[in-house]
Amino acid sequence: MVSSKELLKELLTDEKLGYCQSCGSCSASCPMTRVIPEKYNPRTLLQKIHLDPDGMSEKEELWLCAWCYRCTERCPQGIQPTEIFLLTRNFAAEKGMIPANPRRIIKEIMNSGRSMPYGEFIDELREDYGLPPIGEVPAKVLEEQRKIVGEEFLEVVK
Ligand code: SF4
Ligand code: SF4
Repeated sequence: MVSSKELLKELLTDEKLGYCQSCGSCSASCPMTRVIPEKYNPRTLLQKIHLDPDGMSEKEELWLCAWCYRCTERCPQGIQPTEIFLLTRNFAAEKGMIPANPRRIIKEIMNSGRSMPYGEFIDELREDYGLPPIGEVPAKVLEEQRKIVGEEFLEVVK
């Protein structure tokens, strides 16, 4: 199986990054840069990953992308920043480098099937909007989810 790091190397070659015009469309489109410009900028993140993928796999900055794909849609050079960030995260996760917050969310998804704990207040809130209750995720579905994720990954996020 091809590793995330190998895929990353294919996607982020010197030649490909050489096409980056440093136009800044990715950063100008990024909702995270708008909210936390001092912490997050996809254009500079791309450069940092290119220069040091191992070092960047240890940085929390890597986990701030909100996955909206605006940068990828608007990049005039087809550089696909979102895919590059996803692969770098996969690469980090393979090494067990998952910061506390995403680790907590992954654990919650594995335990309850949702990214936040289910409580009756959620159904009450839904009722206010005329929506049906969602209830708890059935055990069979959680078991299926564990199989899809695989024991190896479950060990990593333990
Ligand atoms: S939008 Fe594309 S070409 Fe422009 S700075 Fe970002 S990665 Fe480079
Ligand atoms: S996909 Fe990530 S980096 Fe790209 S614009 Fe959205 S939040 Fe920003």
